[in-house]
Amino acid sequence: MDRIDCVVIGAGVVGLAVARALALRGREVMVLEAADAIGTGTSSRNSEVIHAGIYYPQGSLKAGLCVTGKAMLYDYCAARGIDHSRCGKLLVATSDAQVAQLQGIISKAQANGVHDLALLTREEARALEPQLECVAAVHSPGTGIIDSHALMLALQGDLEDAGGLLALNSPLAHAHCASSAITLVANDGTELQAGMVVNAAGLQAQALALRFAGLDARWVPPSHYAKGNYFTLAGRSPFLRLIYPVPEAAGLGVHLTVDLGGQAKFGPDVQWVDSPDDLVVDAARGEAFYAEVRKYWPALQDGALRPGYAGIRPKIHAPDAPAKDFLIQGPAVHGVAGLVNLFGIESPGLTSSLAIGDCVSRLLLLSER
Ligand SMILES: Cc1cc2nc3c(=O)[nH]c(=O)nc-3n(C[C@H](O)[C@H](O)[C@H](O)COP(=O)(O)OP(=O)(O)OC[C@H]3O[C@@H](n4cnc5c(N)ncnc54)[C@H](O)[C@@H]3O)c2cc1C
Repeated sequence: MDRIDCVVIGAGVVGLAVARALALRGREVMVLEAADAIGTGTSSRNSEVIHAGIYYPQGSLKAGLCVTGKAMLYDYCAARGIDHSRCGKLLVATSDAQVAQLQGIISKAQANGVHDLALLTREEARALEPQLECVAAVHSPGTGIIDSHALMLALQGDLEDAGGLLALNSPLAHAHCASSAITLVANDGTELQAGMVVNAAGLQAQALALRFAGLDARWVPPSHYAKGNYFTLAGRSPFLRLIYPVPEAAGLGVHLTVDLGGQAKFGPDVQWVDSPDDLVVDAARGEAFYAEVRKYWPALQDGALRPGYAGIRPKIHAPDAPAKDFLIQGPAVHGVAGLVNLFGIESPGLTSSLAIGDCVSRLLLLSER
């Protein structure tokens, strides 16, 4: 049976970033991807926002990896010519009651090391974005947007330049964990041994981990799916910056993002679903978008929104439970040598991808056999 240093399962932005980091540290790396192309999962169904690191609890992985990952991502984009824009965002309070929340968000951001936020009056916000309606706003100049597919192609390029391999159409069926190596079995029965394995299978990460013989199932969190639907706006974007309401329980509220082509979209909302494949946008959900968006953009015309696309957040908590942090589980947690499972890598996973790559590779190389 062939043996390789490291196998990464999943060629989304996180799997590719982890594989690149391991390959740049001189390890032989193979990425196994079930689909026929890279980045066809959640990595191509998101807002493509480079988040500043504002909302996450102090000391959480989300906070630390987002702030570090943001800086790494801007540097990487500049070095590799990846299309992006540091366009900034406005976080808007649309009622007096929400103004206090803005102050709390600034304090939280400062605790996370984000010191460039500014509280704006209604007039100051409208001087930046004349079509905006609000009581007050927070300006985040460090928020941006990125061409996520160009990012993934650059990561793949670095991986391959460092000698790594990408195997498409290669779904992993199951694995056997032993102290000397992990044996991976593909759907077609092909076997491969690896000293290190990273499960970056996104929405499938828990289902896959449960098929790892030798990993105690008590380490695998439950899977919940929070779909986020987007609606696109016909015509030119009314705003230059991203516009976010004060965040909701399970998402960041129905916000406006602009892509690098100038197309505006609203979303994602939060719709808990039973299946990770439930990706159809129900046009009827658009009605609720009009009401939400008009709180900060009253000029939105009837009929201007079209169903766009949807992505599914890989949640590890039930709808009524408090939000959870990224779960990066290495051998010190579950006791299986050479294995790292990545669970619940929802937003800000794209922003954090390079930092997650560094974190996981350090975790594995510390315990290398
Ligand atoms: C609606 C929405 C909006 C978001 N917006 C943002 C944002 O603006 N900014 C931000 O920073 N983050 C955002 N995120 C989060 C970000 O998109 C994710 O954190 C990131 O894409 C996760 O990447 P991944 O590689 O872990 O997963 P994925 O992209 O899902 O990749 C997993 C891969 O594993 C493969 N796979 C699964 N099972 C197997 C198997 N058995 N064998 C082989 N391969 C397998 C799949 O085919 C897939 O390609 C958003 C997420 C959602 C849902």
